[in-house]
Amino acid sequence: FSISMDHLSLDEELGRGNYGTVKKVVHRPTKVAMAMKEIRLELEDAKLRAIIMELDVLHRAVAPEIIEFYGAFFIESCVYYCMEYMDAGSLDKLQAAGVPERVLARIAASMCRGLRFLKDELNIIHRDVKPTNVLVNRKGQVKLCDFGVSGELNKSMAKTNIGCQSYMAPERIKGESRGTLAAYTVSSDVWSLGLTIIEIALGRYPYPPETYENVFAQLQAIVNGDPPELPGVVEGEDVGDVTGETNGILDGVVGEKQYTYSETARDWVAWCVRKDPERRGKYSELLEHPFLKDDRDSGVDMAGWVVKAIECKNRNALIAARAVLPQSV
Ligand code: ATP
Ligand code: MG
Repeated sequence: FSISMDHLSLDEELGRGNYGTVKKVVHRPTKVAMAMKEIRLELEDAKLRAIIMELDVLHRAVAPEIIEFYGAFFIESCVYYCMEYMDAGSLDKLQAAGVPERVLARIAASMCRGLRFLKDELNIIHRDVKPTNVLVNRKGQVKLCDFGVSGELNKSMAKTNIGCQSYMAPERIKGESRGTLAAYTVSSDVWSLGLTIIEIALGRYPYPPETYENVFAQLQAIVNGDPPELPGVVEGEDVGDVTGETNGILDGVVGEKQYTYSETARDWVAWCVRKDPERRGKYSELLEHPFLKDDRDSGVDMAGWVVKAIECKNRNALIAARAVLPQSV
């Protein structure tokens, strides 16, 4: 069936990106809750129609690690894109709770399987792997969204300013600064995968805070600096130990835990973020690495982790709200 605006009831806003807004909607004929992304594009109708046609490929992107696509349409100069609603949101919003090693492995394995599926079955390179494009639900499922299926859409959304945090691989940054649009390869996605895993483990963007506001310094650090790593085990401590636990409302941060990770996990991540793209792991190799090999049988309680992470997020939001309005307790 095809989806049109007439069949949708608008609900809350789920988030905003550089190109538009994502809203929760209900498709009335089927009563299915969906996430609808609005992308504003100043393009003529023929181009918009071409984009909608290209997006049709997404109906074939059916895999457990890929967000389900329901349909797309355009109204005036906006493309609307309806997809599976994920009730725990994106990973960037869940990392404050701390991420134990087995949970990190499940996230990494899901991302790898999803990216391998896109590449092998549909010949699609994601091009925008980052924490906001990895979605989670309360069942504990981890799925990818926002991959580059439409050439026309990629062109019209050409990343002039990629925002304040870059997940772009060093070879991409070098290529663009030279003006040679080097072909985007799978290994560039592998870099972004590694950087995403480090970010959610650390609970912050992995390059130094001085680079957050300074795009040039950030790109310099990515191209010239050493790649970031996962925090390792401090001598004398067990894997999974919490090192800098800050609890208590006085700190303004509740339940912020910094886990440490085994040499196996650190080795896996280092394999993703090698500066030389040729030396990065391929998806199948990465899935065979000891960090991920037994993930399916690890019995990790993802649903339990998601619930805790959402509670932590809500608590922090409450504390932040109180800080703004001190009189209202
Ligand atoms: P950018 O514009 O740089 O790609 P982004 O990925 O954050 O950044 P959007 O893709 O527009 O921007 O998404 C905005 C937010 O909406 C996301 O950060 C995510 O938290 C939320 N979101 C997106 N898709 C869904 C979905 N299917 N279910 C639930 N929440 C979603
Ligand atoms: Mg997104």
